[in-house]
Formats: sequence, structure tokens, C-alpha cells
Amino acid sequence: MSDESRTSAAAGNVFYRKLHRHMPCIVRGKGVWLFDDAGKRYLDGSGGAMVANVGHGVEEIADAIGVQAATIAYVNGTVFTNEPVEALATLLARKAPAGVDKAYFLSSGSEAVEAALKLSRQYHVERGEPERRVIIARTPGYHGNTLLALSASAREHYKRFYGPWLLDVAMIGAPYPYRAGPDGERSPEMTGDALERAILAAGARNVAAFIAEPIGGSSTGASVPPPGYYARIREICDRYGVLFIADEVLTGAGRTGTFFALEHYRARDGSAIVPDIITMGKGLNGGYAPLSALLVHSRIVDVIANGSGNFQHAQTYSHNPLSAAAGLATMRYLDKHRLVERSASVGRVLQQRLRDALMDRDEFPIVGDVRGIGMLVGIEFVADRATKRPFARALKVAETLIDLALARGLMLWPNTGHADGTNGDLVIVAPAFTISEEEIDELISRLRASIADLVKHLAQIPV
Ligand code: PLP
Repeated sequence: MSDESRTSAAAGNVFYRKLHRHMPCIVRGKGVWLFDDAGKRYLDGSGGAMVANVGHGVEEIADAIGVQAATIAYVNGTVFTNEPVEALATLLARKAPAGVDKAYFLSSGSEAVEAALKLSRQYHVERGEPERRVIIARTPGYHGNTLLALSASAREHYKRFYGPWLLDVAMIGAPYPYRAGPDGERSPEMTGDALERAILAAGARNVAAFIAEPIGGSSTGASVPPPGYYARIREICDRYGVLFIADEVLTGAGRTGTFFALEHYRARDGSAIVPDIITMGKGLNGGYAPLSALLVHSRIVDVIANGSGNFQHAQTYSHNPLSAAAGLATMRYLDKHRLVERSASVGRVLQQRLRDALMDRDEFPIVGDVRGIGMLVGIEFVADRATKRPFARALKVAETLIDLALARGLMLWPNTGHADGTNGDLVIVAPAFTISEEEIDELISRLRASIADLVKHLAQIPV
């Protein structure tokens, strides 16, 4: 590969998403480390887009994929079943709350969300409630980039060109403790009461589904809703016959220290919160092959089985054996090495060390908050720590930090716009659960140096 095609996204024949970025060519990965073709190594501090939960280069997962590819790589999921799909569905049903025991496999998180929302509509129509068509989602929040998933996402910059094709989705405020306002935990966004108001405003019999990330992903930067929030959400959904879709694309498979993030919450009687549909992606495949899933309560599947008999969501690569083999091997690896437990215990170390390293007011006045749970940490940057005023979007603080960190051999994940829809800068730290404590210290040392670079960079910009 020539130097030019290696580093410039605009050169060569690949149409990349970021056309102005110079992208190193990664040739190999091991654990939390990535190696480019120039010999530079990068600490993958976010597992790419919060995907590589078990680390890169796990040979037993690669072997399982190789064996499956040689055995049977593709059959059509409307005609045949296959062993890895059956085994993975059984494994996931055992991990999911009781009753959520039917798995439908697709390729990406967006596809899983799209299918979950469509399924909620089909379920209501087949039950004889065709007026139920309103979807309620939260802002900030993100559910994907296909048109229905994007409609349910509060990402204005992603919607910019596609407005005429998007659907109206009712939005309520997401629980976002750092920016909760004067009422704090009593505000309707934080108690969950905002959902009831939105349902009543839309007309209770018109609402099909409420979709939410149980613990905030990139959109609210690992914000953790208050303890009683999901008990209230479940009660409201039950009262009005609204399906509750827990979007665990980012948080599922152990990222927050429990297999599903919703496990951090309990109903008032101490029982598990049982969503109607769970979406998964990212960590489900660990990055080894595109794979997502919706886990569906059998009560919903039964309505369709006893009605049309057909979920109207055809995709060529649904229930794919090769992807399922990758997912199955990843889940078995997770279990064998008790990596969800490790995500909780090492996550506590990661959270504490990051807070200790970054919250010093004099050293890093631009760090407003460090928060999260398990191996999911959000670091929010502000122009003024006292007022939490965000930086002006034009300064591109999060994007600049990502580039500065990459130059120092550290990969992080950015998010923007969460403070008020336009402004707001945060980065996500979400390494593989296998990261060692020495590697955590290395991550933090590179991060501190990158933030110091950012502070210098901002100081040079005339006000
Ligand atoms: N849902 C959540 C919570 C996500 O974080 C994402 C991606 O970041 C998606 C859905 C969409 O997944 P994908 O990018 O695999 O389509």
C-alpha cells in the first residue's frame, strides 16, 4: 500500500465516511492494542465504537469462525435453521429476563432497532389495535442510522439532509444527572413521569412503543438514571399497553458490569425489570463479525405466531450462521473468563482512577464531569466548570481531542451536541474488559497528555 493511500481517506478507491481525515491502516490487533502498517501502536481505549469487549485477536474466536466458514457459511433463514443460531439463541435466552426468550438475528444495531420498532407496530396491529403507531424516545439518545432508528434518535446533525424522509417520534428528556436542572432527581425526566405525560399527550391508545438506552451510551456520555427510574417506566408502559424496548446495543453483553444494563434496576417488589424487546449488537459480536439481535418476549411472538405467522422483516443475512458462530464464540469466551464480572470489578478501578486523574480543578478546568458504570466512562468537557457552560460547537473540542489522542496512540470515542442539541463535547472511554491495571494506567497517562495538548490548543485560539 502506498503512503498516500494509507493515510488519506480521500485517496484510493474506498468511500470512507470521514473524507477529510487521515486514517492509519491497521494491520493487526491484540488485546487492547492496535498496530498500524508504519509500526505505531494504539491503545484502543474505546474498543472502536464500544464494540471490542473481549479484546482484539482472540484466537479461539477466530478459529470458531474459520471452522464455521468451512462447514456452512450461509443458509437462508426463512428456509433452514443452523446450529450456531440455535445455540446462541438458547444462550441469550438464559441470560435474558424470564419470558424474553426469542432471538431474531440481524447484522447491525440500527437494523435491530429498526426491526424492534417495526415489530412493535406489527404486534399491535395483529392484536387489533392498529391505531397504535406513535413511538416515544428520549433526547439526548441514539438508536441508529437507518431511517426509523434515526427518527428515534436525537442527533440533529445526523438528520440534517434527511428531514423530509424521517418520521415524527415523540421525545422526552433523558435522565442526565449532570444537567438535570434545579429540580434534580425530582424532575419528570429523572423520575420517568415525563413518559406518562408524553403518552397522555399523544393519546394513550395511539402509542406503540417507548425506546430507551437503559444506561446512556455515547449520547449522554454514560449517564446513569436514578435507581427508581425503570420501575416507574415499566409501570407506565404496563398501564397504557405500550411496549418497552430496551436498546442494549451498546450496553449489552457486559459493558456496564452486568450482562444487561437493565439488571442494575429492580421493580418495587425487588423483581427484575422485564422489557418487551431488547436490542443487542456491538459487544454481542465483540467486533468479530457483524451481528445484532432482538430478544423478544414470547408473548409478542405468540401474537404473530397465532396471527399472520410471519414477521414482515425480510433481510438476506438474518440468522446468519457465520455471524452467529462469531457471537457464540464471543459469548462463550465472556463466560469462560468471567469477563462480565471483570467488567464490574476492573470497571470500578477504571472509574476511580479516571476521576482521580482528571477532576483536579486547577490542572484540568475544562473537565466538567467523569461518570459512568462498569467499563463505560463518559468525560464531559465544559468551558466553565461552575456553570457547566459548554464550549461553542465551532471549537470542535471533542473532535480535536480525539485527533490529539490518536497522535499520542490512544483511541477514544467522541460525542457532541448533548448539552443543548448543538453544543456539548464528551468522550467515551470503554476499553476491552480484559484490560490490565497497568494498561489502565497507560491509557490514563496518554489521556492526560492529550487533554493537556487540548488545553494548550484552546489557549491559542483568539477569543
Ligand atoms: N443503539 C445504540 C444504543 C447505539 O449506541 C448504536 C450505535 O452506536 C446503535 C443503536 C446503532 O448500531 P449500529 O451502529 O451497529 O447500526
